[in-house]
Amino acid sequence: MTARHYDLIVVGLGAMGSAALYQASRRGATALGIDRFDPPHSLGSSHGDTRITRSAIAEGEIYMPFVRRSNEIWRDLEARTGRRLFHESGGLIIGSDSSAAFHFQGDFVETSARIAQKFGIPHEVISADEIIRRFPLLRPRPDERAYYEADAGVLRPERCIETQLELARQAGATIHTGEKVTGYEADASGVTVTTETASYRAAKLILAAGAWIGELLPETHRGGIRVCRQLIHWFEAEDRSAFEPSRFPFVIWIGETLEDFWSVFPAPPLEDGGMDGVKLVTEQYHTSTQPDEVDRVVTAAEKADMYQRLTRPRLKGLRERSLQAEVCLYTLTRDEQFLIDFHPATERVVLASPCSGHGFKHSAAVGQTLAQLALDGGCEFDISAFNLARLRDSA
Ligand SMILES: Cc1cc2nc3c(=O)[nH]c(=O)nc-3n(C[C@H](O)[C@H](O)[C@H](O)COP(=O)(O)OP(=O)(O)OC[C@H]3O[C@@H](n4cnc5c(N)ncnc54)[C@H](O)[C@@H]3O)c2cc1C
Repeated sequence: MTARHYDLIVVGLGAMGSAALYQASRRGATALGIDRFDPPHSLGSSHGDTRITRSAIAEGEIYMPFVRRSNEIWRDLEARTGRRLFHESGGLIIGSDSSAAFHFQGDFVETSARIAQKFGIPHEVISADEIIRRFPLLRPRPDERAYYEADAGVLRPERCIETQLELARQAGATIHTGEKVTGYEADASGVTVTTETASYRAAKLILAAGAWIGELLPETHRGGIRVCRQLIHWFEAEDRSAFEPSRFPFVIWIGETLEDFWSVFPAPPLEDGGMDGVKLVTEQYHTSTQPDEVDRVVTAAEKADMYQRLTRPRLKGLRERSLQAEVCLYTLTRDEQFLIDFHPATERVVLASPCSGHGFKHSAAVGQTLAQLALDGGCEFDISAFNLARLRDSA
């Protein structure tokens, strides 16, 4: 039987891949999306109910067009579907002179304010006293200060992925889930993609495999990609409504060491599908893992550390009762910048991943960029810093 020849195949239908499939399908491309699981799922990097989004991107000005375009796309998706994808809550980034000393971005509070100033984003820098006055559940130290962006908030990642996949399907895309891609080969007329059960042909291929991207990159360009196990906790609130987005901002709290970096998320209303409890996230970079071997059990000691060491001294209103905890994966390059590029051997294949801890807010526009690269051979935004060459083993 002759297999169907698609314009495009997208491998991996998480944050980046679902967005790419949606964008390509709405442009009229015949597209096949393949995922080894059934997105949205909780085995990769895009689960856990909420993701922070803010407009001043201190990780680098190169990300500014991505977040702006993504915000337009989220709003458009909300209008098309009547679904709520974003909750405005305001957002705080709390730090001090000592936190600036270790953070890889330097003074994240200061850099956020500088970028906000440059791009005309409404913001304030407020003192510890002012933080307490406005947000009495928080207990900063006297030497801490915060960047505050009132229009910032949280996205609902599972809903964003589900919505984009649904709209892609409505625009004609074919979606295969529970099918693992094992290889691909480009030739003069197209690309053959092989899975555990079948093979498919397309003119172009996008690889958006998240933490599994290493398996699909050329062997010469896997250097420096690390996958780090991260923890998401939900602790019981004395009064959960006090943490809803209308009353409580997200908080990125940069302490004095790398182990003292954590975030608190506003809790979307239960009637809007929010998860019970209040979500807290830590970060760690010292231990790497493999996505298929990662320990997915969050231990009692890890829960106690989250509550006793990080939460209790700084946040009121939570009880030491863990309602749920999950493992999530950061995929990191050495310089912590994204990867968006053509395959070094063929422009039929586009690669995307290493989005570290800040990829979701940009993902709608990353998907659009991937679709442009695949369908047009180039893209609107500057992606020069996201090149694959820097991952060469010898680089
Ligand atoms: C705990 C945590 C908190 C975060 N907080 C924020 C935040 O607040 N704000 C923010 O902007 N970002 C945040 N991020 C980062 C952001 O969530 C990620 O950058 C983004 O979700 C990554 O999307 P992805 O598409 O690359 O990966 P994923 O969504 O994991 O998608 C990859 C997909 O590829 C599939 N796949 C892999 N291999 C194959 C194969 N061989 N065949 C078929 N399918 C395959 C997988 O099943 C998966 O569905 C956070 C991440 C974590 C872990």
